[in-house]
Amino acid sequence: MTGPRIALMGFMLETNGFAPVATEEEFREKLWMEGEELLADIRGEGSRDPGGLCGFAASMDGAGPWTPVPLVITSASASGPADQDFFERYVARIRRELEAAMPLDGVYIEAHGAASATGDFDPDGTLFAAVREVVGPDVKVIATLDLHANVGPRMVEATDMLIAFLTNPHVDMYERGVEAAAAMRELLAGTRTKKAFVKLPILPPSVSLLTARGPYADAIRRGQESVGGPIMNVSICGNFSLADSPKNGISVTVTARGDQQAADRVARELAAGIWADRERFQANLTPIAEAVAMMKAACADPSLPALLFADVADNPGGGARGNTTDLLAAFLEAGIGNVAFAIHYDRPLAAEAHRLGKGARFTAHLNSEESDPGSKPLEVQAQVMALSDGTFVGRRGMMAGRTVSYGPTARLRLAGRIDIVVVSVRQQCADPMTFEHLGIDLKTVRGIAVKSRGHFRAGFDDLFPDARTIEIDGPGLVTPMLARVPFRNVPRPLWPLDPDMTWEVPEKVAV
Ligand SMILES: [Zn+2]
Repeated sequence: MTGPRIALMGFMLETNGFAPVATEEEFREKLWMEGEELLADIRGEGSRDPGGLCGFAASMDGAGPWTPVPLVITSASASGPADQDFFERYVARIRRELEAAMPLDGVYIEAHGAASATGDFDPDGTLFAAVREVVGPDVKVIATLDLHANVGPRMVEATDMLIAFLTNPHVDMYERGVEAAAAMRELLAGTRTKKAFVKLPILPPSVSLLTARGPYADAIRRGQESVGGPIMNVSICGNFSLADSPKNGISVTVTARGDQQAADRVARELAAGIWADRERFQANLTPIAEAVAMMKAACADPSLPALLFADVADNPGGGARGNTTDLLAAFLEAGIGNVAFAIHYDRPLAAEAHRLGKGARFTAHLNSEESDPGSKPLEVQAQVMALSDGTFVGRRGMMAGRTVSYGPTARLRLAGRIDIVVVSVRQQCADPMTFEHLGIDLKTVRGIAVKSRGHFRAGFDDLFPDARTIEIDGPGLVTPMLARVPFRNVPRPLWPLDPDMTWEVPEKVAV
């Protein structure tokens, strides 16, 4: 191959500052691909990549010759802070591989952007700066970011362009990779970027960051209306509030074609508009007792629609444990039946079900080895209804066409009435296949409960549109009720923790 030599790499972690450390083992278990294996995966069917690299490679392949230089990608999805030693080894490896790969024309980094490490609040900035240091000022460096990124100035400085997702639930990872490839071609043809960056002191509850409607949807729409002419990209990142990081806060990053003033003007206008709209970033959750009453009513009257309960506070997609039992216990207590729960993260319980085999009846001890006090143990009679290796290809929404791996998985029927999907790899439930691959028919149940904050919506909205979806107020490491969270490291003052604060867009926004 000829054409530009582009290094491909990725580091993805959304750090929950209150969750246990993300170890190298966790990164390697969840996603680790390198070299030719990485290249073959992103060019093949059912890729394990979240989508950015797939879109980037497909677009580059379609637009002319290039020489991909695949390094390594890894993701711990959402977890605690990355282990510092592991992170430093990863950066050192990237440095070595980039040095060996020179001369390069460009680097594409698939990042999440809300990572912390145990000794570094800005590992994304550290990684981007290391890449820049090795490749020098003239090699084009573009990174894609999750919409929940906690963007800091080093990340903007070290790159030519940042491109964040526009959708939540996230369904545009591939498209953003395509955008990154088009931008890479444009930059290689001579365009030089100018960047503006504003960090807003707003800590939004996670449930207020949907892009279909609400204040964040309006901000994203206004940003996209600014794109065109000199403006190449507008990325408004909602932040990941539970990171508990000095980089918390909504951010606006604008990339322009050579025109600093245009970038500055758009960034300032958008930031001022979001600040003026801050009162709309609210969480409205349903108490568990009310959820029980709603579910009892739905069970008693078949003419009422089936319901979906989102356990948003225990979303593994935000680093929570995925095994709080409060809603489940309340449903069992109330005698509710014909309801299915997914997921419950409980490795020993899944292993026991596999050991006992399909059809076995036993006393299930939920959370027998879980140490988080929010994940209460529960003892209940159970039957093993189905077993799987937890691996399937998603069919709707964020995971559509992508391989999902929950590890050894079991469908248990509890107290003869409620089914739960017990998994061995801690991940949220965003795809209906999580239920269906174990024989649960979502058209016949009266209700489901999912451990997910919002990504489930794109997977389940055909059967459970917004009007049938209830966000419950349970315990968990990602509760959007931010007044309850013992933040230590977020910048202060910060709205709404400091409701009387004032703020103005800073004079200097150019980066
Ligand atoms: Zn996200």
